[in-house]
Amino acid sequence: MLEKTTQNWKSQAEELDIESRAFINGRFVDAVSGETRTCFNPADGSRLAEVACCGPEDADVAVAGARAVFERGDWAKMAPADRKRILVQWAELIEQNTEELALLECLDVGKPISDTVNVDVPSAVRTIRWSGEAIDKVYDEIPPTPADTLALIQRLPLGVVAAIVPWNFPLSTTAWKLAPSLATGNSVVLKPASATPLSALYIARLAAEAGLPEGVLQVLPGPGGSMGKHLALHMDIDGLTFTGSTPVGQLLMQYSGKSNLKRTFLELGGKSPNIVFADANLDKAAAMAAAAVFYNGGQTCTAGTRLIVEEKILDAFMDKVTGHAAKWMPGNPLDPATRMGPMIDEAQHNNVAEYVKIGHEEGAVLTFGGNRVLDETGGYYHEPTIFCRVSNQMQIAQEEIFGPVLSVIPFADVEEAVNIANDSIYGLAGAVWSNDINTAHSVAAAVRVGTMGINNYFGGDITVPFGGFKQSGNGRDKSIHAFHDYTELKTTWIEFE
Ligand code: NAD
Repeated sequence: MLEKTTQNWKSQAEELDIESRAFINGRFVDAVSGETRTCFNPADGSRLAEVACCGPEDADVAVAGARAVFERGDWAKMAPADRKRILVQWAELIEQNTEELALLECLDVGKPISDTVNVDVPSAVRTIRWSGEAIDKVYDEIPPTPADTLALIQRLPLGVVAAIVPWNFPLSTTAWKLAPSLATGNSVVLKPASATPLSALYIARLAAEAGLPEGVLQVLPGPGGSMGKHLALHMDIDGLTFTGSTPVGQLLMQYSGKSNLKRTFLELGGKSPNIVFADANLDKAAAMAAAAVFYNGGQTCTAGTRLIVEEKILDAFMDKVTGHAAKWMPGNPLDPATRMGPMIDEAQHNNVAEYVKIGHEEGAVLTFGGNRVLDETGGYYHEPTIFCRVSNQMQIAQEEIFGPVLSVIPFADVEEAVNIANDSIYGLAGAVWSNDINTAHSVAAAVRVGTMGINNYFGGDITVPFGGFKQSGNGRDKSIHAFHDYTELKTTWIEFE
């Protein structure tokens, strides 16, 4: 598969049969209104598919179907070992279709094919397989009580869960939501991002093939502001799991409060600090500093967008980082050698250009990139871009740009590094690079984020929880901890006569 050339992938893309209808009650259907939305390939602006554009009326049908199957217990009351069998089979089918699914994700999102083949699809497979395998191995609790009583503490599914996901990692974030919510017995109504619904529709077909009962998973492509809002305000949805921007997350909390207090778990934005001390392995730190911000074109919630560097090594270290930045020049995502693709759409492309302008106006020093490129392709490409001598008060250091723009901020000592790192509304991720165990651990402990790397960036696995502090959110995806977001604790107290 990896030996394939750009031309091989291009030919295969032309043959793809793309499913573009909503998946409701086990069938692919058009939106009730008949409306569609065009899905574009960000690599060249070409039209990929006309996708069903669902509205509140479709959502009501999907929620009613999800509720009915939940109440019947077709899935919720199925023995955990049987749910496991179906989820593991689903993971197998996704794995068997890696090539086609990776291609679809590449075309829909503009992600490099080498990433979708090696990262996105395997990560979704592992997430679903792991959660499925775990579900008949987690036990409930019996607490210590007096001898004439017995108490049970059980985790029960919430009921109907709505999952709303973003466009930057459509397949992986969908898997992070679906695997634990389905494993714990819920019915789920998934709303993919309007720009990137194709991989979710693809895996819905495979879920049915694996034996997931009708109505347990509904996939509704449609706009966030109307259909997504309708789901978030719905009185018959018990839980809402969301990955996306902080402003939309704030709205969802309000919608929950205005409706039925549905359990609402949010994975939101970030402006993550990547702190480099002079005593670190600087070659490795420099390579990863570039990868941390340029991977996925910087359209990554955990992107290491604030590179906080010990002043005395700043120039020498930045020479190394710049050398690596040059290896991230964007290119055709279907080329297996491409590391960085386009921005998702024109609006995001403009947004990145606007922040570059702001960086100049704020007095930051542009040392690499800064331009739109490859305009002739019709795609939305931007160079990897580095601003040096940035102050943490600047807009480019405080706001999530969601593009390949790095802000480099110098520091003098440990205290200053930690203060800069924590001076953010966000608290999603970060890293510290140092070969001094005391420095590394004390900084890692002091930085208020959900995931912190020591001498690595983007480290982690399905076995560890992922989520944010502060305005980066409140829920946790991945690991057994994710199961808690999709279950209610129930106590049963028994007295013997
Ligand atoms: P977004 O918030 O604009 O949209 C996310 C989803 O919410 C989409 O499906 C959208 O249609 C929907 N939506 C929009 N308005 C809505 C409303 N009023 N009611 C209900 N749903 C609505 O985010 P995006 O631009 O798709 O994704 C980028 C953002 O996601 C960034 O901020 C990024 O940091 C964040 N993100 C976070 C994580 C994480 O795990 N913390 C992971 C990936 C992305």
